[in-house]
Amino acid sequence: MTTTLITGANKGLGFETARRLIAAGHTVYVGSRNPERGRLAAERLGARAVLLDVTDDASVAAAAKAVEADGGLDVLINNAGVEGRTENGGVIGAAELTADRMRTLFETNVFGVVRVTHAFLPLLRRSAAPVVVNVSSGLGSMARVTAAGTPTYAYPGVAYPASKVAVNMLTVQYAKALPELRINAVEPGFTATDLNGNTGTQTVEQGAEIIVRMALIGSDGPTGGYFDADGPLPW
Ligand code: NAP
Repeated sequence: MTTTLITGANKGLGFETARRLIAAGHTVYVGSRNPERGRLAAERLGARAVLLDVTDDASVAAAAKAVEADGGLDVLINNAGVEGRTENGGVIGAAELTADRMRTLFETNVFGVVRVTHAFLPLLRRSAAPVVVNVSSGLGSMARVTAAGTPTYAYPGVAYPASKVAVNMLTVQYAKALPELRINAVEPGFTATDLNGNTGTQTVEQGAEIIVRMALIGSDGPTGGYFDADGPLPW
């Protein structure tokens, strides 16, 4: 029996990933920062709900304690994320970027990954085949962001791509330090979810594909990599 925790799984890519992994036979914890949204999602999915706000040390510690008491964890999917918006609904570009806005976005997308990984690492280390999937973005690819003439190049936001570059670096450095884990970063692709006001061009089924695939890799799978549904991505 494989037990999996997905942060921010009450909707969007996390919810769809939960649906697919339950179908694949995993016992899934739906992490949600809101108890009611988490309970409803878990009920719809046939999953377990766990209250988990990735920006809150106490919430993450309590979630780790609850999952540990229930028997432990094999797969962690760091999925919770925000794009960060200004008051006018635009992305946070260079002109709007302040240290406070950057800090708020990093608190979820970067420090959230660190906080959750740190709290669940002792549980993962007790698993026979521990796996971590960090949900990054193609906007975290330095190669893509600097490839003139592409949509990734044209993206005007600053804080969000910076946060996903940090997620990629965390992935590489964790992977080297923790060879007993399979830990990879994934790019779901531009997917219609609340994150982008449902402007994404892919369905959540398409977006969740690579998250699910990397959650299902065995002990002989890759580690320290960065993938989308078509294969490895350039850093
Ligand atoms: P979404 O539909 O907005 O879902 C985001 C999830 O994260 C929600 O469940 C949200 O919970 C949760 N979340 C936000 N802050 C949280 C916190 N502090 N603690 C716990 N949960 C929190 O967006 P999505 O598109 O599925 O995004 C999932 C991941 O994919 C993100 O990491 C995103 O950066 C990445 N991604 C998305 C796209 C895309 O095109 N959609 C492309 C590349 C990468 P609430 O419901 O409580 O807000």
